[in-house]
Amino acid sequence: MTRSERLFEEAVQVIPGGVNSPVRAFHSIGGTPRFIKRAKGACMYDEDDNCYIDFVGSWGPMILGHSHKAVVDAVIETCQKGLSFGAATAIEVQMAELVCSMVPSIEMVRMVNSGTEAVMSAVRVARGFTGRDKIIKFTGCYHGHSDGLLVQAGSGVMTAGVPDSLGVPAGYTKDTLSAEYNHLDSVEGHFRRCGEEIAAVIVEPVAANMGVVPPIPGFLEGLRKLCDNYGALLIFDEVITGFRLAPGGAQEYYGVMPDLTTLGKIIGGGMPVGAYGGRREIMELAAPLGGVYQAGTLSGNPVAMAAGIAQLTLLKEHPEYYQVLNEKGDWFYGQMEELVRKKHLPCQVSHEGSLGCLYFTREKVMDYQSAKTSDTEAFKAYFNYMLGQGIYLAPSQFEAMFLSLAHTEEMLRNVFQSMLTFFLQKV
Ligand SMILES: *Cc1c(COP(=O)(O)O)cnc(C)c1O
Repeated sequence: MTRSERLFEEAVQVIPGGVNSPVRAFHSIGGTPRFIKRAKGACMYDEDDNCYIDFVGSWGPMILGHSHKAVVDAVIETCQKGLSFGAATAIEVQMAELVCSMVPSIEMVRMVNSGTEAVMSAVRVARGFTGRDKIIKFTGCYHGHSDGLLVQAGSGVMTAGVPDSLGVPAGYTKDTLSAEYNHLDSVEGHFRRCGEEIAAVIVEPVAANMGVVPPIPGFLEGLRKLCDNYGALLIFDEVITGFRLAPGGAQEYYGVMPDLTTLGKIIGGGMPVGAYGGRREIMELAAPLGGVYQAGTLSGNPVAMAAGIAQLTLLKEHPEYYQVLNEKGDWFYGQMEELVRKKHLPCQVSHEGSLGCLYFTREKVMDYQSAKTSDTEAFKAYFNYMLGQGIYLAPSQFEAMFLSLAHTEEMLRNVFQSMLTFFLQKV
């Protein structure tokens, strides 16, 4: 028995499913999770000293690679001055200024501790600002696990085969309307029926919790227009796309400005951080200025801020990093696509910048319906083969691959090689 297997046996006794977040349990791909001991650059090492090229990157934060020196040093230095004060600190001002300077539509920002919290708070502010209750979300988009947003919520829920969650009272989701990603008419329908009651449309500008589905041209622009016509707010959930597609996230990348933006993952450099921000007149509704209550004992924690600031500062000062990263993505996923085409593999490659997904379907994926046509059994075999080759992919068909600046061409070629071997063996 490996150390990972032994740890998992212990873990399931005291932690539900042995993990603190469901996808880590490897349920949808069988087998037991690898317990990770350390990571550096694009490499992760498990408790049995197996080495993996990591394509999860903590689900996005590790855009510079694991254990980046500037980030780790900033954390160590900040720790020595105290871990938390529950009082205002200079480092929070620095973080807020940095975020406002990078994300085009954000004039004011509030720090929280996770993406879930960021979305929950942004939705509350949107409802407070508009005086309306209903929100529109898209099937297959994930916005954290708060009650009102656990409706057709993508990856974790998709592979578990459970449409929703127990424990969510129907009353909590009655104001959540579902629309189809990349289908403006489904949004328009809701607005026509009850436009005066809709506070906000929330969307992942690139859907990255049902694999990776980029917006078709005109989709985000269309949402902007519909929201303006009906006096609703547009919320971009940039927990994945923020600081990844461009320094200013998807809104900069696509040139569409939301009213509110939620951030997470990359913003903390690996520490638990989330944030929501937007236009001044909207954000001024948050307590203590306005009537929308939202708080957090550890929000803006100095150590977490230090990690985030160190990473964001590097990203801001090196816009060329984004060119490198996006070109790397174009090359990597482009090569993968070519492989699929040349070998007539029953797959689709979908990607935007450094985010990508290999779907096991012949259907072109552009929404939740088409993503769901994927053969998850085939993905399972692929995942396990790749893991055996030292390639750590997200353990679900419906999660993204995350490239980082630390992935080398050699590592990426390694992936093609293993991929090829896998498919040749199968055929
Ligand atoms: C991960 C994610 C969240 C939730 O963030 P947590 O930090 O896990 O609470 C919200 N929205 C999107 C788009 C995400 O990918």
